[in-house]
Order: sequence, then structure tokens, then C-alpha cells
Amino acid sequence: MSDMAGNGLTIRCEELVHIYRTGDVDVVAVRGVDLDVDAGERLALLGPSGSGKSTLLGMLGGLIPLSAGRAWIGDDEIGRLTERQLLRMRADRVGFVLQGAARNLFPYGTATDNVRFAQRSASRARRGDLLAPAEVLDALGLADIAEQPMASLSGGEQQRVALAVAVANGPGLLLADEPTSQLDEPARDAVLDLLDAVNERFGTTIVVVTHDEEVGRRLGRTVSMRFGQVGHEGRHDGQFTVVGKDGSVHLPDDVLAAWPPGTQVVVERDGDQVRLRRRDS
Ligand code: ADP
Ligand code: MG
Repeated sequence: MSDMAGNGLTIRCEELVHIYRTGDVDVVAVRGVDLDVDAGERLALLGPSGSGKSTLLGMLGGLIPLSAGRAWIGDDEIGRLTERQLLRMRADRVGFVLQGAARNLFPYGTATDNVRFAQRSASRARRGDLLAPAEVLDALGLADIAEQPMASLSGGEQQRVALAVAVANGPGLLLADEPTSQLDEPARDAVLDLLDAVNERFGTTIVVVTHDEEVGRRLGRTVSMRFGQVGHEGRHDGQFTVVGKDGSVHLPDDVLAAWPPGTQVVVERDGDQVRLRRRDS
């Protein structure tokens, strides 16, 4: 991790699509996602199981190919990178924490060993700028467990080390899939504190997949997915629905519960105001 603030990377997605082809069945997991994230921004991807969150995250991390659409991480258009360039991107510029990744750290190694090992993949040009493993752990509030073997740590501590390992090479973007899903509230809050520290100290852009609305609230911006599409967005100052390129509008979950798909809705325009009501009401 280089000790520079403001190295955050932007994300730009245009009409991203991913189709899993399994035998005769095609599953369209991501269907036309447009998304912009600013450098240093923190974002939670929310949505029910199967809505395409992990697939979208994997596409942003260069782990899952784009079936259609275009995406840029900083100045790099990921669909145009070779396999080798994608590897380089993941080693230096994009930190990725898979769901349950804490279990895959070296169990007999200490937190410091695990960070040191991750730094071996940094490019030569970058190696001179990296913080020492102890400094990485110290910056993220993990100094007191730095010399503990992973196997002796709690699930929440392991998750925090997994995140520290992911940012060991000073990436401008951190992608984490359900980093708090198995944790109790204090452990979850400790993970969120660590994400704050990564973001504030290093300027890293952060995208987290989560089921937990509280995680979304703490990160400040939420993007909700449903059936592979981005529906509504939330920020500190309120909830928004984004009008799609095809003119479609996603209803908030509570409205959708009352108005299931197929409900006929009357759209009434009154000056600047637009009101929706059920046809039969
Ligand atoms: P989420 O992370 O929101 O739960 P996913 O991105 O994992 O959603 O999955 C989106 C859709 O893609 C689901 O319908 C899921 O069953 C399907 N899917 C995910 N991974 C695969 C795969 N490797 N092969 C086939 N279908 C998949
Ligand atoms: Mg998932």
C-alpha cells in the first residue's frame, strides 16, 4: 500500500450484460447496467439473492467477462484488456475480496505473513512504494493482531485481515463481496471502521456487495439491483429511482410489494409533478 491519499479510481459502466451459458440454458445475470462511481466514493450494492450483485462485482474486478457493454476502471477499458493486463490490474490496482475469502488466508501464517505474501504479486515498479506489512496493519487498526496466526482469530478479525490483504498493494479500487455477512454487529461495525480507514487514509474507491441496509447506510450511497438491473439509488439525502435508458422506472420495494408486476398504473402529470396511481383505485 503506498502512502498516498487520492489514488481512488473511477468506475464507469455502460449497458453491462453478463450471460452465464450452462448447457442449453442461458442465465442473463446482469442485464444492461449503467453505473458511475467517483474516485474515492463508497458504494453498497444491495438486492435480493440472485439479483446479479456478485456477477457485477466480478465483472468490475475483471474476473467475469463482459457479454456486452463497456466498463472502465480509471482509464482502462476492462473489456479491451488482455488476460495478462487483467492479472496486472488485479495485482496492483483493484483489490478483490471474494465472499468467504477470509477462510482462504494461510491459516498457520500470521496476519503480517498474509499481507507480505500478497505484496509479492505487486509489480516491480510498484514494490518500492508499498508500506511494510506492519504499517499496513497498523494503519487499519490491526496492529494488536498482526502477529497472531489466522487460525487463532475470530471470523470478524479474519475478515478484516482479508480486507487488509486486498489493499496491501495500494489499489485504487476495493471490491468486497458480502464482507460482513457472517458477522455479529460489533464485528460488522469493526469491518465498517476498517473500510472507513482504507477510504480516508488512502482515498480508495470502495464497492461492497451486501444484504445489510445498515452497511449501505454507513457507506453513504446504495445502488439496489433486481433481476440483473439497477433499480433505485439511495444517498444520505434520500432515495431515488433512476429512469432507465428504455424509459422504465423501478419502484421501491415497498411499492412493488403492493403493486406486483403487471399492475396497471395511471401516470398523471401536473406541471413539474408526476403522480402514479393504480388503475382500478
Ligand atoms: P447475487 O450475488 O445477487 O446473489 P449472482 O450474481 O450470484 O447474484 O447471480 C445472478 C444470477 O446468475 C442468478 O440467477 C444465479 O443463479 C446465476 N448464476 C450465478 N453464477 C452462475 C454460474 N456460475 N453459472 C450459472 N448461473 C449462475
Ligand atoms: Mg452474491
